[in-house]
Amino acid sequence: NAPAHFRALLTASRRHGERVFLRYEDERVTFEDHFRRAAALAGRLAGEYGVAKGDRVAIAMRNYPEWVVAFSAVLAAGAVAVPLNAWWTRRELAFGLADSGAAVLIADGERARLMADAGVRIIVTRPGGSVPPGAAVLADLIGEPTGEVTLPEVDLTPDDPATIFYTSGTTGRPKGALGTHRNVGQAPLTVGYSLSRGAAMRRGDPGRASGRRRVTLLAVPLFHVTGCFGSMLSAMFGGATIVLMYKWDAGQALRLIERERVTGVTGTPTNAWQLMAHPGFGDHDVASLGTLFYGGAPAPPSLLARIRDRLPGRAPSNVYGMTETSALIIDNSGGAYPDRPDSVGRPVPVVDVRVTGPGGAKARPGEVGELCVRGAPVVGGYWNRPEATAESFAGGWFRTGDLARVDEDGLVFIVDRVKDMVIRGGENVYCAEVEAALFEHPAVRDAAVIGVPHDELGEEVGAVIHTTPGAALAPGDLTGFLKGRIAPFKIPAHYWFRQGELPRNPGGKIVKDLLRREVLGS
Ligand code: ATP
Ligand code: MG
Repeated sequence: NAPAHFRALLTASRRHGERVFLRYEDERVTFEDHFRRAAALAGRLAGEYGVAKGDRVAIAMRNYPEWVVAFSAVLAAGAVAVPLNAWWTRRELAFGLADSGAAVLIADGERARLMADAGVRIIVTRPGGSVPPGAAVLADLIGEPTGEVTLPEVDLTPDDPATIFYTSGTTGRPKGALGTHRNVGQAPLTVGYSLSRGAAMRRGDPGRASGRRRVTLLAVPLFHVTGCFGSMLSAMFGGATIVLMYKWDAGQALRLIERERVTGVTGTPTNAWQLMAHPGFGDHDVASLGTLFYGGAPAPPSLLARIRDRLPGRAPSNVYGMTETSALIIDNSGGAYPDRPDSVGRPVPVVDVRVTGPGGAKARPGEVGELCVRGAPVVGGYWNRPEATAESFAGGWFRTGDLARVDEDGLVFIVDRVKDMVIRGGENVYCAEVEAALFEHPAVRDAAVIGVPHDELGEEVGAVIHTTPGAALAPGDLTGFLKGRIAPFKIPAHYWFRQGELPRNPGGKIVKDLLRREVLGS
């Protein structure tokens, strides 16, 4: 019964024993507690729930410690974990259950009640109200396991499926990326590489200098790969602590950094920006903080300067990755490439990248094309989506759907999403570039650039602007500001101003489909 990668990782995590693995409000879960609970739940799943190798078990929860216990239990039992987005509505959750064909759902009280009639067996964590008929409560099911605990027997190979993570659905219906135990086992190594590259570049990192263990504040959900693979799995492997939050809040994050002596924060560029811009920043002792990791969406280059100003001597990292690559695959540890905050850095050594032009020919250095990747962290395809798999995974390379260029030094620059690019009278306009220029205007709090249908040009450039409170902005101000910063054909012809935040999904990405519908009605 040779353990496949995750089971080996879980078993090895016991050596961290009484160290704290998970922190949530006043709760502490040690590595030993976590192992025992996960092993007990795995036993129940394999026993009375009849969950066999390859069966799908869905997880729908906020960032509670039980999320991690559930994930570990499902993989240890040889089943496939299907983390569902806790922001999803009933309808969307029902899609996730039906698409994955999950037989069991492990959910917090809120989502268990939403899905009470979905026709799956439910295990409830944190009921906080009525328990749906027929559902079991996790605490009753496993109690506080004592005595000898072992993982259920199951024959697994590293190439057996382990996870189905749904993509964020930024460009269409979310797709389930089917990951193997090998992909799962790779994640802590990839992240560890990035961490050590960052640490090697860092001088006087307080986290390291004092010999303290890593304590990561997780600003993003566990149901995306950044939270689960990037933070949680690497902590399980390295004996680090993860501080969980129910909901992102910059003020609360500052209090937690001080209280838990957090050494790193993992989140989106928006999280990092809000943390740096928080009016209470100066009131907190953040000396423990060695680094900020951010990725998942384009980071304005000015973010790095902001961090340098607030946290001198630290080396933040801009990391690039996606659901299909089991978290980060390219990283720019700010200390490593201090002069290129606009780059996402270099690929980790187990990943190859190439940029292809139309027709699939390899682009020259500096030329923009579609970024394709391959290597150990990249999944083999999508669950239940043969056409999408054929389209994106043909020929051994995964087509990311992102436009990028790679310079002579091997630095990767993400230019835009293929689907976001505006083609104005035959000229390519990269939304991300226009957005970055707009960000530099002090009255612009946030910006999203979209294509606006135009009879003669095909598309015109439009921008939706979230203005800084109290600032008065007219289209002419921005047009004047952008002149000389970007070429005239890239300057938006239409502006929509709004007071409220732009709609972003949990990965920090602007939901442009929603915005387009809002401002264009299509
Ligand atoms: P879908 O595939 O369903 O449309 P999605 O691509 O947003 O959704 P994710 O897998 O969560 O789903 O996100 C991956 C994408 O996030 C990448 O393809 C890229 O566009 C963007 N991204 C990730 N990291 C960075 C980064 N550091 N800089 C710029 N963009 C990034
Ligand atoms: Mg995608």
